Amino acid sequence: MNQNLMEKAVYDLLKAMGEDPNREGLKDTPKRVAKMYSEILSYPNFNYTTFEDKYDDLIMIKNIEFCSMCEHHLMPFYGIAHIAYIPNKRIIGLSKIARVVEKYSKKLQVQERMTEEIMEDLKKNLGTDNIAVYIEAKHMCMISRGVKKELTSTVTTKFSGSFKTERKSEFLFLLGKGN
Ligand SMILES: [Zn+2]
Repeated sequence: MNQNLMEKAVYDLLKAMGEDPNREGLKDTPKRVAKMYSEILSYPNFNYTTFEDKYDDLIMIKNIEFCSMCEHHLMPFYGIAHIAYIPNKRIIGLSKIARVVEKYSKKLQVQERMTEEIMEDLKKNLGTDNIAVYIEAKHMCMISRGVKKELTSTVTTKFSGSFKTERKSEFLFLLGKGN
């Protein structure tokens, strides 16, 4: 990311908003915003360490918090992801699942694509097709304009393998969304 260009763009944006970018409160805003963007739109690399294991039933990680950035409005959307998988002879460190969510949230995104990208990444790195991804998020671009919709949230899901069929109700039950 080009810090100087971003600072210049924020400076120009402030001017376009009819503000004086040189007044005290705004003087350092371009620098702060550029720094913030480079922080919230990049993620540290990590290793997909997996371990051989006999466990062959459902593993579910609930309530993985994330904050991403809507690419249509450059406003945050944030919420929680729930992920489950059935290992295929190898399990992954539980915190790595949260890292995968972080990886695909730290960039300009739409929730639908984020859900798919997490699914594809996990399929590849876990070596199993049996995965469920459930994301529930609030979008500031929806909440902050027009008719206020603070309570509105958006759910996206992606199920593959046995989660498309016999495991789906178990997954939803564990989420407290089943019947
Ligand atoms: Zn948006």
